[in-house]
Amino acid sequence: MADFSHLVIGAGVIGLSIASRLAARLGTSVLLVERHNAFGTETSARNSEVIHAGLYYPVDSLKTKLCLRGKQLLYDVCDKAGIDHRKCGKWIVAQNESQHEYLENMHSKSKLLGIPTEFISLAQAKAIEPAVHARSAVLLSSSTGIISSHELMTYLAGQFDSHGGDLALNTAVSNIEYDRARRLYTATFDTQDGEMQLKFENIVNSAGHGAPNVANMILPADQAVTGYFAKGSYFSYNASQPKTRHLIYPCPAGNAGLGTHLTLDLGGRIRFGPNVEWVSSPNDLQPSITQFAEIVAAVQEYLPGIDPTALAPDYAGIRPKINGPDWSDFTDFVIRSESCLGFDGFINLLGIESPGLTSSLAIAEMVEDLLHTK
Ligand SMILES: Cc1cc2nc3c(=O)[nH]c(=O)nc-3n(C[C@H](O)[C@H](O)[C@H](O)COP(=O)(O)OP(=O)(O)OC[C@H]3O[C@@H](n4cnc5c(N)ncnc54)[C@H](O)[C@@H]3O)c2cc1C
Repeated sequence: MADFSHLVIGAGVIGLSIASRLAARLGTSVLLVERHNAFGTETSARNSEVIHAGLYYPVDSLKTKLCLRGKQLLYDVCDKAGIDHRKCGKWIVAQNESQHEYLENMHSKSKLLGIPTEFISLAQAKAIEPAVHARSAVLLSSSTGIISSHELMTYLAGQFDSHGGDLALNTAVSNIEYDRARRLYTATFDTQDGEMQLKFENIVNSAGHGAPNVANMILPADQAVTGYFAKGSYFSYNASQPKTRHLIYPCPAGNAGLGTHLTLDLGGRIRFGPNVEWVSSPNDLQPSITQFAEIVAAVQEYLPGIDPTALAPDYAGIRPKINGPDWSDFTDFVIRSESCLGFDGFINLLGIESPGLTSSLAIAEMVEDLLHTK
């Protein structure tokens, strides 16, 4: 017999969203485990805290679908629960004809998807954001915003608790075995009191950087997953000028990130980042200054008035990638039931990079459907 109907592995924003949704469902008992001594200390605490509009991904991708649905759910829950957020809008700026064309395509796709975007004339742009330099075009995304990811996670943890869920901190999953005949998983945990085992009917692997390792506990060797790590460093800006009211993004080059952008925190402070630097470990979390000159040059393209001496390394986050630096095609979220491999009730979530924070509540809906819709 199972000790719990569901095990959710990893208490980042994704695991918290899934666990609180499952716990709210009648007839489930949910254990959420986290290897650290607090929830939300890895990637969910090290990102841009932007509520993305859903502009960047192929129309029929999970990233688009879950970002659009997640954005709506997130704004609703922020309003309902008083989670600190601001729909401040963002500008994407084009500096040449090919970037302008990129924005035209983005605008057409947005219309198709029902995402509000509009071009702002260069004269208008100068009047609204005098510090921003755009040579070719500016596209406004008015549904983009910022959120306190910590407040969101605290809210989700509270919901999970109030629905009767159990959160076990300092508890790392070290092995999983499946008894197919009884349809029961036995998970082994490393805890502060030593090793222990419990049985579950369903397992959701939302372990972020740990997810490939957890997936490989059940997957056949020829389908093993490898994780890759793309670090993004952020720089605080400690001068009073220039200022902007919107988030300012360049046009992205390549698939690894959205370009070193200007984000605002909820206190109105400017920070720049994240750049892309491939590293060999998810624990390489010191903000890196090796690309400092390139970062300054990238920012000066759209904000020529910045004072580079007022930039200081702030923090870094690491994108949980499932393809390495040589991969140039689009990579979607992987959210899949492993029932076709004979593992009923086992869901793997892999490569949950940006826009994972925005998509979190929609990902939880999808996981619930995968587990409970036949
Ligand atoms: C630089 C950067 C900027 C980003 N900016 C944005 C943005 O502006 N907007 C947006 O929507 N998204 C953004 N993202 C993406 C977003 O941050 C992630 O998609 C999201 O935080 C992923 O959450 P998670 O719960 O999957 O992972 P995590 O937050 O990493 O949580 C996974 C948890 O699993 C635990 N764990 C791992 N292995 C085990 C194990 N064996 N046993 C128990 N626990 C385990 C870990 O300790 C961790 O706490 C950004 C990401 C990065 C890196």
